[in-house]
Amino acid sequence: MSTTQEMAQPAMPEVDRLAANRAAIAARQARAELKRRLRSGEISPLKALEQSLIPGSPAATLRITDFLLSFPAIGSVKAERVREDLGISERKRLGGLGKLQREKLESFVRERLGTVVSDSRPPLTVLAGPTAVGKGTVAAYIREHFPDVRLSVSATTRAPRPGEENGKHYFFVDDEGFDRMLASDELLEWATVHNKYRYGTPRGPVLEAAERGEPVLLEIDLQGARQVRASMPEARLVFLAPPSWDELVNRLVGRGTEDQEERTRRLETARVELAAAEEFDEIIVNDEVPRAAARLVELMRGRG
Ligand code: 5GP
Repeated sequence: MSTTQEMAQPAMPEVDRLAANRAAIAARQARAELKRRLRSGEISPLKALEQSLIPGSPAATLRITDFLLSFPAIGSVKAERVREDLGISERKRLGGLGKLQREKLESFVRERLGTVVSDSRPPLTVLAGPTAVGKGTVAAYIREHFPDVRLSVSATTRAPRPGEENGKHYFFVDDEGFDRMLASDELLEWATVHNKYRYGTPRGPVLEAAERGEPVLLEIDLQGARQVRASMPEARLVFLAPPSWDELVNRLVGRGTEDQEERTRRLETARVELAAAEEFDEIIVNDEVPRAAARLVELMRGRG
């Protein structure tokens, strides 16, 4: 910067800078409060849209993505999709929307409000993700801390690990038993995981619970998740992502329950599976198990 420019734009006096910082903090707090009220339903999204016409109001400075994320059952992936469909750029704030964008967003909100009211049956939720990301741990945490969430019990041809109970963690069956379940069409989905053992979701209990309006969670692999999507498009697919690839490798190798050949095989599967996140409705990062579990349960209860 030249000396002339420096003279033309004198540095902000200390006292002004402090005032500006304070104003920025207050604005952030007001936005956080607005987001909370939107999520809790204390303020309707239509009202917030209306308020965003007032320049400088918390609603006017709310980013489009944060606005969309405040809707029940809209997570980061869906929010991106909706934003792109509406043709609104990521950095846009509600106050800066063009007339057409505002109209499109408003009709999306109206449609969404209508849909939520009419959709009272909690949909089936599928939790999938790469190997060793901790799906099993998140599912176990939910089993222990959220007893009202029904977890589907899969059938598998692998042997039980220490501490695993038949009928609670899995139904342990032999190859003939699994063949019989397939022949009588008892499985909602099934897959051979890591080219080794077969796993499948018994159809009956899942459909019965869904019929009764109980939230059901399936913790299954990606191939199974795709089958559920095909046969039950209303199912919600949640991808559990590792905080980073290194973290995933650490978890995989650190677990120590598999031999070298098995670890290599699982890593390869994980590489392919990570790329599949795009196909999912929601992504939850498994940075801390209790947080990831609580987020998943929130989504299942329709308060995502
Ligand atoms: P594990 O043997 O470590 O319990 O599970 C291995 C993998 O099988 C995990 O990725 C788990 O999500 C998956 N899995 C468990 N049950 C099912 C099921 O019913 N269907 C499918 N497709 N995958 C399953």
